[in-house]
Amino acid sequence: MFNGKYRALLHDLQHGKFFGDVSAMCHVTEFQKRGLPHGHILLVLEDDDKLRCADDYDSVVSAELPDPAVNKELYDIVAKCMMHGPCGKLNENAPCTHKGQCSKGFPRDFSDETMENLEGYPIYYRSDLCVLFLQAATALSFHQMLCGLAEAPSCYGSICSSI
Ligand SMILES: [Zn+2]
Repeated sequence: MFNGKYRALLHDLQHGKFFGDVSAMCHVTEFQKRGLPHGHILLVLEDDDKLRCADDYDSVVSAELPDPAVNKELYDIVAKCMMHGPCGKLNENAPCTHKGQCSKGFPRDFSDETMENLEGYPIYYRSDLCVLFLQAATALSFHQMLCGLAEAPSCYGSICSSI
């Protein structure tokens, strides 16, 4: 099942169905510790289709937890599959935790807007509303959310605009 969906996704990406014309693509399949496969896909877009500003980034990437009142199905998928943590001080046994800190940089700060940064990786718009959605769905306190799960969704994808 994974292979069929993965191949269909690669085909659609390569033929410009989502982001525009692709000049190069590289991908690798990895297996998590529980054996679940996932793919890492790098797309290099043709010059005319490159994502160059915050509005372009916001058109294809979201670091938000969807509002469950608006789209419960999407909220459930993101909450189940895209959340990072708990880790750091909330779970020092998490594989990503070293010396009480998440080695992946979570939790990420909330941001009122998407901004470019010096390394070419944007800081995505990430409102603190997701804390309220998560708090309603879990037994964690607001403080725990801010310290741990406030990392919100880890992202559906990421952009590097300096390549
Ligand atoms: Zn972590």
